[in-house]
Parts: sequence; structure tokens; C-alpha cells
Amino acid sequence: MTAPLQRELVVLAAWLFVMLILGAVFNSVTGFLLAGLLAYVAWNLYNLNKLSKWLAKPSKHSPESIGVWDEVYYQLYNLYKRQRKARRKLTDILNRFQKSTQALPYAAIILNQYNEIEWFNPAASQMFDLHKRIDIGQRIDNLIRLPEFTKYLQHKKFKQPLKFILHKKKIILNITKYSEGQYLLSARDITAMSQVVNMRRDFISNASHELRTPLTVMSGYVEFLSHNAGDNIKVPLEKIEEQIVRMNKIISELIELAKIESSATIDSSVRVEINALLQDVYNEALSLDNNEHRIVLDIDTDDLKHKDARYLYGNYDELRMVFSNLMTNAIRYTPPDGDIKLFVSENDTVISIAVQDSGVGIQYEHIPRLTERFYRVDEGRSREIGGTGLGLAIVKHVLDRHSANLAIQSEYGKGSLFRCDFPRSKLEH
Ligand code: ADP
Repeated sequence: MTAPLQRELVVLAAWLFVMLILGAVFNSVTGFLLAGLLAYVAWNLYNLNKLSKWLAKPSKHSPESIGVWDEVYYQLYNLYKRQRKARRKLTDILNRFQKSTQALPYAAIILNQYNEIEWFNPAASQMFDLHKRIDIGQRIDNLIRLPEFTKYLQHKKFKQPLKFILHKKKIILNITKYSEGQYLLSARDITAMSQVVNMRRDFISNASHELRTPLTVMSGYVEFLSHNAGDNIKVPLEKIEEQIVRMNKIISELIELAKIESSATIDSSVRVEINALLQDVYNEALSLDNNEHRIVLDIDTDDLKHKDARYLYGNYDELRMVFSNLMTNAIRYTPPDGDIKLFVSENDTVISIAVQDSGVGIQYEHIPRLTERFYRVDEGRSREIGGTGLGLAIVKHVLDRHSANLAIQSEYGKGSLFRCDFPRSKLEH
């Protein structure tokens, strides 16, 4: 029993005792006891009424009373004060959240599990022409009427963002699940950014094409001169020819890179059989190598645990370019008689295709930069063996397009491993 209740029982007992004494004095014990009880009930009813009035409209001042009622009022008043404080704090947080989302340059929309709009910020209202009074509660796919958006919403594969054109603007959109049945849709206008990227790509592509013609003309003259020139200028002419070949290679790879960048997104429903792909790459490597290395192909995909590990999905020519580049590098950067292995492995999350060599290896600090355009560890050596510094940039770009990841492990002087991980979740079945 709580202390206030105990106290109240003592008060009641004392009150009834007084009534009992008075009853004995005036010779009406029952009458006095009854009157005493009635007075007690009336007092409690009065306080109950006061409490219900205060609860209906709580004020800053706590009602006052005596005994257990004072205790009740005091506790309730404290509860009321704490609740007011928490509410003020919450309103404050909410205000700050609303202000920050209103200032956000990105469109933000909160959706429920039925894809109905629960809230959006002014940037979303502008981007998707939404109106608070009409569109709250509407299904988002009724308002953004684009087949690719509807498909994205239905498939619920929200790990990848969706890019689409709306009212001549290029939009990138993400959907994130942030609590049970609640989604945050955020979108950004990337028109200006993609224009800059396109301009850069077109410039490189145009400049490369433009350079091809003068190079062909120069090559023609060099050939003519080397047929008609004396021995003393044969060597310089050969050097010029070498440089022309090198420039032609750089130009071809730049054009290749621009072509990949400008081509449509990968059709991930096209199946590429790993065995056939790697067999092609292997044969090509053998003919390039002239028996200088021990090259091994280890691709018996029938042995793999998961049968789906036999296939990749995407563009055959681009994927072939990836593994050709890796094999060419392995041949170039492995001294004669070294070992080179092309193989497939898998685990529950990825299917990996890797090229391992026992070559010169790469110092740790260079590894993160290898896929940058024109980055070479040793420029002189790369040039000597006919490198352009673009091979791994192309590899990285194609892998990105296939949602795959390039992992590079290397030990300086001992060899390198270039592993391409294709996530299973991205592979169609
Ligand atoms: P490059 O045409 O110069 O080979 P890449 O982009 O293919 O250009 O490679 C970038 C650099 O990475 C190379 O210059 C080389 O230093 C290093 N590299 C690439 N593959 C290997 C490898 N298998 N072993 C050692 N170094 C490598």
C-alpha cells in the first residue's frame, strides 16, 4: 500500500473516530457515523470534480487541496509539466527538421507502404509539380507517370538509383526504406552536371577523331620516306613510325572509352557464358604471348557450387575487353617464364573472375590510382612495352556499368591479382 493511501486511511479512521465520540456524546452513534461518511464522500466528490475540470483544461497552476488529493494534484501537475516540456522539445525538433528539409536543394518525399505521399518539401513540389492540398494521400505513380518509374517502384530494387528525363530535365532518384512501411524518395536535377560530362566526352571523342587523319597522312609520308631515304635517316624514321603507332593506340583507346561512356546502359537480360568468354580471352592471350609465359585457364564452371555461376549478364564485347586488358597487362608486366592464371571463383554474394600473375607487382601506394586515366606506375616502362595508361580505366568503367567491382592485390616484386567481382544480386536468373 502506498504511503499517501496509508495516510488517507489514518485520516479516515480518525475522522470516523471523532464522529463516534460525538455520536456517543449526543447519543446517536449511527447518525453521526453516517453523517461523517456522507461528509467524506462529499469531500471526495468535490475534489474529483475539481480534478476532472483541471484535467479537461490544465492550467499553469496546480490546484491545491489537502491530504491524498494534494498528493494526486502534485503528481499530475508534475506529469503535465514534463509532458509540456517534451512536447516543446519535439515541436522544436520538428520545426528545425522542416526548416532544413525546406532549405534542401533536393526533392524529398515521404511515401507510405502503398506508395501514397505523406509529406514533401518545396523542392519536390517544384520538381514534380506537387500541391499540398491536392496531392497528399495520392499515389506517387499517378503523379510521376513514367513507365521506368512505375517499374522501379514495383520491383522495389532500390539499391541502384533511377535516372530519367522529366520535362526535359535529367533527374536522378533514390528511394530509401527508413522504417516499416515508410520510404523516403529523394531526387536531384543533374541536367547541368550531365551536360558538362557529355561535353567533356564529346570533346575527347571529336579531338581523337580529328587527330586520326593527320596521323594517317604522317604515317603515309613516313612510309614513303623510308622507302626512298638513305640509311642515315632510316633509324629516325623508324622512331617516328613507332610514335605514330603509339599515338594511334592512344587515340583508339580514347575513342573506345568515349564510346563506352556514351553507349546506353547495359541490358542485364543478355546472358554471357563465362566458359566461352574466357576461352576466347585465353586463346587471344596465347597468340599474343608467343610462349613466353606459362598461362593457365582454370574455368570449369561445372564444378562450381551454384549453377548460375556459369553466366554473367551484360555486353559480351565489353566484358571481353576487360579480361583481354587484364591478360595483356599480366603478359606485359610479368618477366619471361613467369606464371599467369585466369580463373573463376564464387561465394554466396559474388562470382569472381580473376587474373593472377607472378610479375613485377605494384607498390601499395599506387594501387588506388591505377584506374585513373593515364596513370602509370613507371611511365618509361609502360611506354617501352606499348602501354597507353588507359587499359585499367576502361576495365573500371566497363565493370561499373556491369555493377561489378575491381579488387587489386599485389606484392611488389612478387606478382599481382586483379579480381572482378560480379554481385549475385545484380545477376538475372
Ligand atoms: P598501361 O597501358 O600503362 O599498362 P593500364 O591502365 O593498363 O596502363 O595500367 C596502369 C598501370 O598499372 C600500368 O602502367 C602498370 O604500371 C600497372 N599495372 C597494370 N597491370 C599490372 C600488372 N599485371 N602487374 C604490374 N603492374 C601492372
